[in-house]
Amino acid sequence: MEFIFLCSRVNVLILLLTVCSPYKFIQSPMEFGPLNLLQTTHEASLDFGRIVFNTPSAVLKPQSKTDIALLLSSLSASSLSRVTVSARGAGHSIHGQAQALDGIVVEMESLPVEMEIHKREGKDGISFVDVSGGALWIEVLKESLKFGLAPRSWTDYLYLTVGGTLSNAGISGQTFKFGPQISNVLQLEIVTGQGELVTCSRTENSELFYSVLGGLGQFGIITKARILLQDAPEKVKWIRAFYDDFDTFTKDQELLVSMPDLVDYVEGFIVLNEQSLHSSSVGFPGNIGFTPDFGTREKPKVYYCIEFAVHDYQLEHMNIDEVVRDISRQMSYMQSQLYSVDVSYFDFLERVRMEELSLRRQGLWDVHHPWLNMFVPKSGIVEFKDLLMESISPDDFMGLILIYPLLRDKWDGNMSAVLPEVGSTDQVMYVVGVLQSANPDTCNHRCLHDLLQHQRSFAQTAHDQIGAKQYLGHQPSPLHWRSHFGRRWGQFARRKSQFDPNYILGPGQGIFTNPH
Ligand code: FAD
Repeated sequence: MEFIFLCSRVNVLILLLTVCSPYKFIQSPMEFGPLNLLQTTHEASLDFGRIVFNTPSAVLKPQSKTDIALLLSSLSASSLSRVTVSARGAGHSIHGQAQALDGIVVEMESLPVEMEIHKREGKDGISFVDVSGGALWIEVLKESLKFGLAPRSWTDYLYLTVGGTLSNAGISGQTFKFGPQISNVLQLEIVTGQGELVTCSRTENSELFYSVLGGLGQFGIITKARILLQDAPEKVKWIRAFYDDFDTFTKDQELLVSMPDLVDYVEGFIVLNEQSLHSSSVGFPGNIGFTPDFGTREKPKVYYCIEFAVHDYQLEHMNIDEVVRDISRQMSYMQSQLYSVDVSYFDFLERVRMEELSLRRQGLWDVHHPWLNMFVPKSGIVEFKDLLMESISPDDFMGLILIYPLLRDKWDGNMSAVLPEVGSTDQVMYVVGVLQSANPDTCNHRCLHDLLQHQRSFAQTAHDQIGAKQYLGHQPSPLHWRSHFGRRWGQFARRKSQFDPNYILGPGQGIFTNPH
């Protein structure tokens, strides 16, 4: 395998020669600077999942969007279109989605970060940020806070790139209120599969705009995004309440998402064991005095925790403690099992970083992550939970199971993200994230393989019986992808042939095969 490190337009052409010549040659690392080529391609074959390791032939470290446009236009205009290309953000995918076996990986984090904040002028104006596709959300947060602003919709973890999460959806506890991150984009700048640099929005080149949002990197590479901002609160009241009954837990979650004028964030998780209680509480600075009985191995008992938050800025005319008291009076959590803390807005959004640092200290961050995320129709959430609990052993489960409601009308059905088709009259649907870790010291190759097999058959059953759809998921074949897209498949395939007719982009997803 040949590797090359690139950083200028001239080098884009050398890279093409290197990757595509029948007489492949290896450029000396020294010709391209002091960086270690092997390390570069090694990183491009790794992701957070640590399950799939596809090595590319080359890595492009673009210094400008023109480098990316040149690469794609050269590939697309010639017989070189057999070479595939993947954009790689922060590499936090699970199943090699940003990898390109024997192709070229474009490292988006190499693009110099550009960020311009526009603060609302006048009563009716809007605030937004123009930011490069390779920027991390934590960088967006830090910069916009300098202006007293922040994006409205987040992911739980902020060390992900703007282009990476917009290629999926980008969800968190604010999604019920503002929709996923893809619903909060005003404009995009894209390099299409043919290497054209296009600006698009809901009114300009709108088909490309809708395709790319949630488009799994199939239609173009996001080089810039215009994201809506709102006034940022200084502080947040962060509350946790515990339940021993699933129906009561989900009813209360649905009650909270029905109060978007008061509540700013709603999530929740299953408390499976002591470990899940403590690990999910690393970032929560309150003292949780919940010491439940988890039953026995034969007869385990699980609990549920709702997490919600209220921002303080919107409540100038009200006392935030009174608001939280009013809300919690309407809830049915276990007696006296409600805990609340006041934290800065920044610390609240950074909460998963605390967990990351703790796991890193224990050597438990760079492990296998056979994660499974699914969107579940409300009508099937109890059945889904029962199926899930039959398929895991609470005693041995390492990780977290998130469950929280989302509202369909906050999603734009013309964007590429796929939601459950059944139960579409229900406004509410759920996202369930089975965020499992497998330490290679205790789970060898065989054990990981079994875990993944088990997970695949669980996801298939949940799809077939309940109509659940994977989010951030992996499908074993293009045929499975068709079934995943369901009635949306025709539109997705048409868009692919319009914006990436040579099937160059996004090979790591395995949705299409490059016909050349
Ligand atoms: P990568 O993994 O590098 O890429 C993902 C996909 O996007 C690939 O197909 C890639 O080719 C494509 N892509 C990347 N950049 C671009 C670009 N500029 N233009 C076009 N395509 C591009 N997700 C949520 O929604 N909510 C969460 O709360 C959440 N929490 C997470 C917590 C952790 C600890 C981790 C590891 C992941 C979490 N995720 C969450 C998942 C995360 O949003 C996705 O894995 C996302 O793809 C990661 O972004 P990335 O920059 O690492 O993208």
